[in-house]
Amino acid sequence: MQMTIGSTQLELVQGDITRQDTDAIVNAANERLAGGGGVDGAIHRAGGPQIMEECRRIGGCPTGEAVITSGGNLKARYVIHTVGPIYRGGKSGEPDLLAEAYHNSLELAVENGVKSIAFPSISTGVYGYPVESAARIALGTVISFLEQSVHEIEVVRFVLFDARTFAAYETNLEHFKSGRTGG
Ligand code: ADP
Repeated sequence: MQMTIGSTQLELVQGDITRQDTDAIVNAANERLAGGGGVDGAIHRAGGPQIMEECRRIGGCPTGEAVITSGGNLKARYVIHTVGPIYRGGKSGEPDLLAEAYHNSLELAVENGVKSIAFPSISTGVYGYPVESAARIALGTVISFLEQSVHEIEVVRFVLFDARTFAAYETNLEHFKSGRTGG
């Protein structure tokens, strides 16, 4: 499923983010950049030790912010590590922090000349963010960024690991699409 925003293609696919050939892939990291399970573990396994070495040198990343490393052995040239919020009921600033994680990742991508970027579903695994609301924030933030910022991004691809997550993003993207056409 896809949507065109200006000259950018926004795509949803079900799959493994470590196999993407976009210029950059985004990692759902933790504040210590210490590696973990989920998509973070998969990226470090597939990308090799170089990425962790760069993460150690950077030292950490506060929730909502983003840092960049090389892609190691991945097809992607860069990994953008961002930290989504741990979901604690939704009244501790989680929606804003999740939006910032997407926004700051895109800003860092633009600063580094990235033309294609793949995102996982940040915070909806171990961090427990309910996937329906996370999908709305993720897509809404990316769409407003693409509409409002000066950028040369040609492709933004959400790579959703499981069918349920894919379905949640699909439903939400349908809403954004029908909202724009007035239907
Ligand atoms: P967080 O700690 O931010 O919740 P997780 O890695 O636990 O991050 O989960 C985020 C999402 O990434 C979940 O939907 C999970 O299923 C998904 N995921 C796990 N492995 C991969 C992968 N290889 N590619 C894409 N998404 C993945």
